Amino acid sequence: MKDNYSYNIQLRCVVCGSEDHFDCNEDKSYIKCTNCGKEYFGGYDELVSCNQDQIEEVKEIATEEVGNDLQKELNKMLNDAFKGNKYVKFK
Ligand SMILES: [Zn+2]
Repeated sequence: MKDNYSYNIQLRCVVCGSEDHFDCNEDKSYIKCTNCGKEYFGGYDELVSCNQDQIEEVKEIATEEVGNDLQKELNKMLNDAFKGNKYVKFK
């Protein structure tokens, strides 16, 4: 199992969908999309709240991946636990 899982969430402009035309001030309290001119006066927080769908999607992928790894780990532990017992078999 991996020690850490990291996922990238690509925030998008709600107006034009651009992912890399963001211009922000130092503390990210104001963000502007230079592609379409949309201004996010709520800054980074506003952008994140506009991208909840993306975040949910990544969460689902993450849950699935971590779940699969856990299952593998569990099977391995069970196999190890019953090693040497020819009557017990795990697929
Ligand atoms: Zn835009």
